[in-house]
Formats: sequence, structure tokens, C-alpha cells
Amino acid sequence: PVRTRFAPSPTGYLHVGGARTALFNYLFARKHGGTFILRVEDTDKERNTDEARAAIFEGLSWLGMDWDEGPQKGGAHGPYNQSERLDIYHRYFDKLVAADRVYEDDGAYRFRFERKPITMQDLVCGEVIVDYTDESINPDMVVKRSDGTYTFHFVNVVDDIEMGMTHVLRGEDHLMNTPKHLQLFEAFGVEPPAYAHIPLILNMDGSKMSKRDQGAAVGEYATQGYTSEAVFNFLALLGWSPKDENEIFSPAEIIEKFTIEAINRAPGKFDIEKCGWVNQQHLAKLSPEAFAAAAQPYVEAANITPDAQYPAIAASIQEKVRLLTEVPAMIAFFYDADYPFDSEALAKVQKNEAAAELLTKLAAAFSELNDWNEAKASIGATAKANGAKPGQLMFPTRVALTGAAGGPDLGAILEILGQEESIRRIKRAVS
Ligand code: GLU
Repeated sequence: PVRTRFAPSPTGYLHVGGARTALFNYLFARKHGGTFILRVEDTDKERNTDEARAAIFEGLSWLGMDWDEGPQKGGAHGPYNQSERLDIYHRYFDKLVAADRVYEDDGAYRFRFERKPITMQDLVCGEVIVDYTDESINPDMVVKRSDGTYTFHFVNVVDDIEMGMTHVLRGEDHLMNTPKHLQLFEAFGVEPPAYAHIPLILNMDGSKMSKRDQGAAVGEYATQGYTSEAVFNFLALLGWSPKDENEIFSPAEIIEKFTIEAINRAPGKFDIEKCGWVNQQHLAKLSPEAFAAAAQPYVEAANITPDAQYPAIAASIQEKVRLLTEVPAMIAFFYDADYPFDSEALAKVQKNEAAAELLTKLAAAFSELNDWNEAKASIGATAKANGAKPGQLMFPTRVALTGAAGGPDLGAILEILGQEESIRRIKRAVS
């Protein structure tokens, strides 16, 4: 059975690169009915923080990557914080001592490499051979420091053995660590897991993504108006291509489609614009109820109190929203009797001398309607009766009702505002 892990060091916030690594391990485990493990590589006491640890848990949970074993969950291979596994590391260190594979060097202990070429069969990079013959190029590595702590290479391998990893998917920046790890596996007489080194994520200009780049922190996506399913989808596309025309998938669909073979060798390009597009597609696919619920916290944060009209209001803009943070501004006019006029839109209406007159006629026509469902048709009819084209009145009507040149469908606006309020708004605009 497949066992994968995400092994972050809690030294900063959860970065998209880390989340993408976690995601690929998660997808592979779920696809094969395996186990996804969270192991916290917290041996560097100086650099670890509780905030970083919390950000990892929160980020993974928000993305829906529930781990089967790990902190908070437990499991048969714990503890899952490396800081609590010292006994295990001592035991493994003793094995190397017994096998005469370590020697002391100024109080620290080095692992004696076998001097030979090391061949890796990487599931993404293919065959990679690194020659360990020359000691001056690959000197024996420290596994235990003089202060008694163990190094990354050592604990990483011990834990992968103890936790029964079958597959390790990790960033390409670890590729040159893998021969070291394979040497340790061989020394312990244990079959190593299969490795897949996944391509780095680069900015659009080809530079390496840094912590300061926009979109780097997973924790910021929610506040910026992305849904977790959209970010899940977007992260999956960073270095993996579904064999499909479509790129918009639910988490379940991505699990079903995911294969290591379809991981790209070229770096993933981090395109925050694309993330917005993916988000828009996900929002558009939600049921109107789910969309209204997703937008509600953003609406409330902008001091708009959702009322009985709110579901219809949310539905009227659903397809136009890229980020949920845009929603309050898009619907504010519905809730503000004194909504401001966009000066450009207003200027366009004022340039059209007939507009004010047509709007006055429209207010009168609206007052006479017995069936408010006829409102939109009556705009065309009023224009026509006054020798104008429907468009010559549609645009001024929109500006009058909303204050802006763009927005929801005019029919939806009329329906939501209702007869009395629509008339009041038109009169306000021409007064
Ligand atoms: N703690 C290491 C890192 O965050 C884990 C590397 C691995 O996945 O093996 O890069």
C-alpha cells in the first residue's frame, strides 16, 4: 500500500511551493487508496516557530488535505515531530556504529560513503547517476553533530524507513540529496522508497519565486477572495498537466486524474492572473446558494448586512466575480440609496442630450406598469415611442439605477430593486 508524506520544516509561513509538494503527495496517496502522512521536521530549534507550525496545519486543512497520520491525528508510526524522535535516531545511529559506517571527526560523526557511482531512477527526472568515487567532491557527511543532534539527511532517511514510506515526492532542490539518502538506505539494508523530484515553481519572468512574491503565502489566499477548491486546482496545475482540454476540476476529479507520469519536467510558471481565472471558473460552477454563502463573510466584512434580497443579489453577479473580495463593491449600489455615480459613466449619459428626457419618460412609463416583469421590455418600448434606439435608453437606465457603466444584467437589477425603488433611482439621476 502506498505511503507518502509531507515533511515541512516549520520555519516560515506555508509557501505555495510547500503546499504544492504536499498536494502531489496527497493526490498520489488518495489516488491509490494509500496513506498520507504529515511529519514535522522541527529539529532546528533556532528557526522553528509555533506560528509556522500552526500555519502548516491551517493551510493544509483549508486546502482540504486531511492527513491520515501526523500531529493532531496520531498513528502507528509516531511521534510525528522529529523533535520527539531522538531515541529512534540514537538506535539507528548505533546501527551505523555497529556496521562501522561512522567515524568521529572533532566530536561530530561522519558517515562513510561507499566510493562508487550512485544511480537513481527518478520517477520524474529519469535515470540520474552521481559519482561518489571522488572523496574531494563528495566528502563523507556529518550525520551527528558534536552537540549530539542529528543532521537533516540522517533523520530524513531514518523517518522514511520507520514510517514505511513507499514514495517520496519532493522539490527538485532535493535531487542532489538523494544519492546521500540512497547510501544511508543501503547501509541500513533497507529498500529505499521510489523518488519523484518535482519541478520548481518560477515567477512568470523565470526568476525563482521568493517569499515576498505575491501569492507566495497559502494563508493569504482566503483573505484575498480565493476559494480553497480553486487554489487546490491551481496548485495542481503547477507542474502537472491533466491529459484533458479542460483545466477546471474539483479535488475529487484531480485525485482521479493524477499520475506521476503527467508531472512536467519543466518548471511550473506561477501566474497569479491564472489563479484568478481558475477562481472565477470555480465560483461560476457553484450553486447559487453555495456562492452566496461563500461571498457572505466578505460582504459582512464590508458592513453590508445580507437581507432577504441577498441571495438574488449574489446570483446576479456570480458569473462576473473573480475574487470574492470584489463582491461588496459590486453589490454596494443595491444597499445604498445614495449610491455614488461613476463620473465617466455619468458624463457619457450627460453627453447624450436626449438621455435625461428619455429617462423622465421611462420613469413615467414604469409608474404605469401593472406587471413589473414588463419593465425591461418597457425600456425598449419607451425608446422606440420617442424615436430612439433601445440602446440609447438601456445605458442611461443602467447608470441611473446603479451609478456605474457595468454590473449585473439589467433585468436582474430591475427585478431586485422593484418598481418603486427603480422609479425613485431614475428620478434621482435626472434631478
Ligand atoms: N524538511 C525538508 C524540506 O522541507 C523535507 C525534504 C523531503 O521531503 O524529503 O525541504
